[in-house]
Amino acid sequence: MTGAPTRDHLETPLAASPLQESLPICRFCGRELTHTFVDLGMSPLCESYLTADQVNQPEIFYPLHVRVCGGCFLVQLEAYVPADKIFTEYAYFSSYSTSWVEHARAYVEMISRRAALGPQSLVVELASNDGYLLQHFLPRRIPMLGIEPAANVARAATAKGIPTRIEFFGVESARRLRAEGSAADLIIGNNVLAQVPDLNDFVAGMKLLLAPHGLITLEFPHLVSLIAGNQFDTIYHEHFSYFSLTTANRILAHHGLQVVDVEELSTHGGSLRLYARHAGADSGGSGAVAALLAREAELGILGLDYYGAFGARVQETKRKLLAFLITARESGRRVAGYGAPGKGNTLLNYCGIRTDLIDFTVDRNPYKQGKYLPGTHIPIFDVDRIATTRPDYLLILPWNLRDEIMAQTSYIRAWGGKHVVPIPEVEVFG
Ligand SMILES: [Zn+2]
Repeated sequence: MTGAPTRDHLETPLAASPLQESLPICRFCGRELTHTFVDLGMSPLCESYLTADQVNQPEIFYPLHVRVCGGCFLVQLEAYVPADKIFTEYAYFSSYSTSWVEHARAYVEMISRRAALGPQSLVVELASNDGYLLQHFLPRRIPMLGIEPAANVARAATAKGIPTRIEFFGVESARRLRAEGSAADLIIGNNVLAQVPDLNDFVAGMKLLLAPHGLITLEFPHLVSLIAGNQFDTIYHEHFSYFSLTTANRILAHHGLQVVDVEELSTHGGSLRLYARHAGADSGGSGAVAALLAREAELGILGLDYYGAFGARVQETKRKLLAFLITARESGRRVAGYGAPGKGNTLLNYCGIRTDLIDFTVDRNPYKQGKYLPGTHIPIFDVDRIATTRPDYLLILPWNLRDEIMAQTSYIRAWGGKHVVPIPEVEVFG
């Protein structure tokens, strides 16, 4: 059509204007998502660290608008970014965190006993990263397979002697493994369930791959901790779903899996570890499952009020952090960051904190050193930079590793330096 707009066009009512948002649908139950949990504005992908050349080029920002489903209460972020864009080169090498490697070692020792694993067993880890966890099965001679979509970290695992397939896991991938005669006695999914865009396909894949008496363990940040601890910075584009035990339990049950036990862990600010089997394969769940489901129900997890107040608290936290940083700057103090985690990028972008408020940050991961944080363009240096520049405040971005980092950098007290943690709200130590 060409020419002037027709009379009909001019009279189109306002409600039908293209400004009206089309609502996403729940990735589990398919309902329209009409309720906002928190809207963190626009952010670049939190793992897209920039080289010096890229700093002068345009960057893509995507919405970080989290919603809660009024039907099943799954808190979720629309898959604004296609998964292959996020996970093909992942900067997070798990092996660079001392406490994370120790967490993995302790897990392997426990699960080898609990699942009675031996040379006849098969352990499959979904999103196996650089093999930081599976490596602990090597000396036990327990056969293993890692599945990891990010090629660079997968190659690091292969180099350690850990068989790793570079692919996304789901029904198709599970079918291929079954056709090759593989069935998993143990499926490990640590911090992957939250990062799966097609949740139903992923869980159906686990159901397919699991041997009749096999065990699944899943770890993910607990939504109850996220809300109680004001951990809004753990929201980023790679995290599509935010689970309570109630929602995770419902999703697994829908696919014929039964949660038989649950543990609360301190990792990532408060996580859950679920143990699941084929429905009916176990004589019944442990008391821990029923107890936590009851506690969540008491908190109001099955009502929208529970989710409603979060956004206002997040805005208040932003104002307090900015007030601290502005006061520090105005009184001539120097602030440096510690760490370049994904959560730091959510926080800094949401609050609009750039080199006007933080001079630089440091990270132990050499992959990040010499690069810049996405969006905020804060430079990332080697940890030595702290000792040579002697900042007055060290803002710890991976607050979940707070104790480990404060111990490693206790030397800042020699020049009167103080540690600062931004979450749940600004707190100065020392
Ligand atoms: Zn839903």
